[in-house]
Amino acid sequence: MPANHDLKAQRVFIGLGSNLAEPAVQVKRAISALAALPQSRLLQQSRLYASPPLGPVDQPDYVNAVVEIDTTLEPVALLNALQGIEQKQGRVRTRHWGERVIDLDLLLYADVQLASKGLTLPHPGIAARAFVLRPLAELAPDLMIIGQGALCDLLAARAGDVCEPLNQVQEIV
Ligand code: AMP
Repeated sequence: MPANHDLKAQRVFIGLGSNLAEPAVQVKRAISALAALPQSRLLQQSRLYASPPLGPVDQPDYVNAVVEIDTTLEPVALLNALQGIEQKQGRVRTRHWGERVIDLDLLLYADVQLASKGLTLPHPGIAARAFVLRPLAELAPDLMIIGQGALCDLLAARAGDVCEPLNQVQEIV
């Protein structure tokens, strides 16, 4: 889709996750790629977090993070760019919720609400995932997730879930 140069830069949050091939390295590499996206600026990045897998448990723990960018790329163009980064880092789709080198989710695109075949906004999984809520709250604690609720309430509901900042010493870099 051609870039819309009249579009005002929009505030966007992107979730990252990896549990293969040195996950912390993969997440950092993807953050560098996000920083280099056209028509976009990296504004903030969370710490890295460690969390147990969602879905099949016979896979390694995940490293997660959230970044905030502003961009004039439209939502679908941005999603395509995220999928390009996934492919460049060698993501192979295996089983549903299975292990992955890198996963990039478009969490929020300004206050856009969308439910199309290839893109749902806000991302429908935000409320259920502490590994999204915790790093997101680090960047924007007062956020309201349209259709899901206030971030602080969603976080409180997931208080028991395991998701801790990665100890820098544990980081395999
Ligand atoms: P996964 O990479 O397994 O998280 O799922 C990717 C699929 O979800 C792709 O086919 C996307 O088109 C679709 N999708 C729908 N909404 C979103 C979103 N907000 N962010 C990322 N992928 C999305």
